[in-house]
Amino acid sequence: MQTPLYEQHQKQRLRAGEEVFKEGDTAQFAYIIEEGEIEIWTTVKGKQLVLNILGVGSLFGELALVDQQPRSASATARADSLLILVTNNQISRRIQEADPILQLFFWVITHHFRSASGHFQAIKDNVSLPIFGYHQKNNFQLSEKIEDAVELIRMENDLQNAIAEEEFKLVYQPIINLENNQIQGFEALIRWQNSQRGYVYPNDFIPLAESTSLIIPIGKWVIQKGMQDLKKMEEISGQSLFMSFNIASIQIEDPNFIPWMLSTAKENKVQPSQIKLEILERTLFSSENTLNWVHQCRSHGFLLVLDDFGTGYSSLQYLNEFNLDMIKIDQSFVQGLGINPNSQVICQAIINLSQVLKMGVVAEGIDKETNLEILRKMGCNFGQGYFFSKPLSFKKAISFLN
Ligand code: C2E
Ligand code: CA
Ligand code: CA
Repeated sequence: MQTPLYEQHQKQRLRAGEEVFKEGDTAQFAYIIEEGEIEIWTTVKGKQLVLNILGVGSLFGELALVDQQPRSASATARADSLLILVTNNQISRRIQEADPILQLFFWVITHHFRSASGHFQAIKDNVSLPIFGYHQKNNFQLSEKIEDAVELIRMENDLQNAIAEEEFKLVYQPIINLENNQIQGFEALIRWQNSQRGYVYPNDFIPLAESTSLIIPIGKWVIQKGMQDLKKMEEISGQSLFMSFNIASIQIEDPNFIPWMLSTAKENKVQPSQIKLEILERTLFSSENTLNWVHQCRSHGFLLVLDDFGTGYSSLQYLNEFNLDMIKIDQSFVQGLGINPNSQVICQAIINLSQVLKMGVVAEGIDKETNLEILRKMGCNFGQGYFFSKPLSFKKAISFLN
């Protein structure tokens, strides 16, 4: 009976003496030894040189699989053996999803290992030593990867100094009540001005700050500064306002976050009900503790906004469970109004949903009057976007209020 293809790809049986692969082959698999014994060998001046003998549980053939260079040695079964096959797909996806800095270390180690075995090859073949460099032609992709990761490490260092060097700034984008055209509050958005890098947009450094824990001190700086400015804005304008802050998932995991928020609000004479915490849908699912965190925040009076709604899970079940205060319609739908008929249907559905669940709804990225008119007719409560105002410095926000 023929073994099904799936089985064939998963495991391979070999008799003693049978070859797994030979030096110079292109690699399709790495192998894990389930049964038997494998010899790894090469030839030096016509003689066979055994490099290693591997037993059950060992992994081999992985280097050529990941760097797609020819096999640097041969492998033969010393006894009847059973091997599990590992495909390039299984490995490369995991490598691509890994932290970029880990990827850097991985590629550099792989590269050094290759250089070392290249030198060995040259010695055994009696030829001049090859020069392995990151900029070698077939290493172009590798050198790009390394440059990207080195740049991330540099940026991480610069970010670490940015608070002390006072390189961060906050800008405030007005949020308008669409029923009466009044400014109700602002969203605080961070800006980074670095002497070497110039003006860096949050999309270029927030993901890095989130993947390290740097977002915790940066996030605290944002909230501290935003609360101070909120108080000043109220005093100068005589209006009551709220401030919205973007919260990353690691901040939610920080057990100190809520007590710190409470004491910081008190210090700045700001009520928790004036603070809106914007979280992404994916953040809601990032930890088991989020539901508890959301309930705690709400019990202390902070308001919660689901940011970029419609771009993530949009599961109705969790909306019910989490009991948030507001939904923010993602700008991609808002900007599609009048252009893409689906955008209109989606915006209306989100607004209807928010009404049924007794949540507020804010549309972001309103940059044209026509979008605003459509949203108003649909019953959207709040709006923000370039049509009203770009994010403003503190000074300009004060003028805008007046
Ligand atoms: P977000 O929370 O979705 O913020 C809205 C972004 O849309 C802001 O970009 C804002 O300037 C931009 N925007 C507002 N109105 C319009 C419009 O009419 N048209 C267009 N095309 N864009 C508009 P920004 O400031 O570059 O922020 C990008 C993202 O960076 C934010 O997306 C947020 O996820 C993140 N971010 C910003 N500040 C912070 C922060 O303090 N903490 C954290 N964790 N994330 C932050
Ligand atoms: Ca936001
Ligand atoms: Ca958003």
